[in-house]
Amino acid sequence: SREDVHYFGAGPAPLPSVVLTEAAEALVNYKGKGLGLAEISHRSGDANDVLRETKENLTTLLNIPDNYEILFMQSGGTGEFSAVVQNLVSAWVEKRRKATDEQIRKEHPGLSDKEVESKVIASLKEQKEKELKLDYLVTGSWSLKASQEAARLIGDKYVNVALDARAHNDKKFGKIPAEDTWKLTPTGKGKPGPAFVYFCDNETVDGVEFPSFPKSLESQTGDEADGPVVVADMSSNFLSRRVDVAKYGVIFAGAQKNVGVAGITIAIVRKSLLAPAVASPPPHILRELGLAPVPIVLDYSTAAKNNSLYNTLPIFNLWIAGRVMKKLVDDYKGKGLAGQEEISHRKAEAIYGALDKYPNVYRVVPDKSVRSRMNICFRVNGGDAEREKEFLAGAEARLLQGLKGHRSVGGMRASSYNAVSEDAVHKLVAYLEHFAQAGQ
Ligand code: PMP
Repeated sequence: SREDVHYFGAGPAPLPSVVLTEAAEALVNYKGKGLGLAEISHRSGDANDVLRETKENLTTLLNIPDNYEILFMQSGGTGEFSAVVQNLVSAWVEKRRKATDEQIRKEHPGLSDKEVESKVIASLKEQKEKELKLDYLVTGSWSLKASQEAARLIGDKYVNVALDARAHNDKKFGKIPAEDTWKLTPTGKGKPGPAFVYFCDNETVDGVEFPSFPKSLESQTGDEADGPVVVADMSSNFLSRRVDVAKYGVIFAGAQKNVGVAGITIAIVRKSLLAPAVASPPPHILRELGLAPVPIVLDYSTAAKNNSLYNTLPIFNLWIAGRVMKKLVDDYKGKGLAGQEEISHRKAEAIYGALDKYPNVYRVVPDKSVRSRMNICFRVNGGDAEREKEFLAGAEARLLQGLKGHRSVGGMRASSYNAVSEDAVHKLVAYLEHFAQAGQ
């Protein structure tokens, strides 16, 4: 039964049993209406209630300020790799287009609209070549993928890999080097700064997590009037600790680790990056610049304007995420995410504690300063294939499942997302102890 199995997979991942039991009923007969939640219109009153309640609970948990929109998107974390590039580059172009248009009209009052436009385009081409930079902090395989997608969409030369953590660690991920080694695009008076700075808060495959918000990004004011454009992928540590949302331009997270089932992706976007503050540039201007308009399903402004209902939103999936959020609100009454943060920390400490106790048997992969609380990556007996197989077989026999590391890096990975109970962690710790002692 569910109570006997302890699953440590990296995502999809366990969800609270109470939510799933309720979900099973909601799928068949929602609120006793004789219809399931996946069967009703995404524009019905019930669907609207789900949307509203989910936003309310998320706002409570993360203390989301009023100048942010919560968007529910559908193409996963990977979809957001593309969406952030296309939306924020469009915003970058549009702000410059408006400013350049105004300036040219002032300088040359007699020009026709057509003449102004051709001057604007010429100037924008120049600005793009000189000033368009997207900064990426590459600390693991997901930020690497995101940076590669940016390069694929707009061209290598506009992507500044401000940090490739492998360069500082024997060509492997596992460290976040000191911030004074990062090569961020210069910002400040007279310098345009990057269109955005991107990082992945928790690298699921490599077990590397930023311990806190990077200091050098506090002053990353770039081109934004009201704060830095920092983009963070929080897919695998979303709602596991407190976050100061005001520091970010965009936060995104796929649901399928800490909050729900695949099919919903949450994006929290500062309104100053969206219409009406920044409209979409005319498509022909983007094309002149060698850029494409944002595909409509990835367009943040369209999602915001339509309350995430531009096209069919999977309301059942959203409802699950909403119930998980509501449960966090209720479980940690008054404490908010500080409550979950405490537990996440305690679980990680217990697992790392057991691993560190037997250095002859276990080796934690990432550096101590950046160990993830969510994905705990380690090797058994220096990565000996037989011993690692034995370790996994012994774990399976105790119904401790999903401990195999990502295929790209091998080894072990214990994911300790929000719904992995402390009891499950204690059982894993007992097994880590048992296996180490038996092998010594
Ligand atoms: N970012 C991170 C940190 C992830 O862990 C993952 C998936 N495991 C992704 C992005 C990609 O998400 P998706 O599979 O939803 O596209």
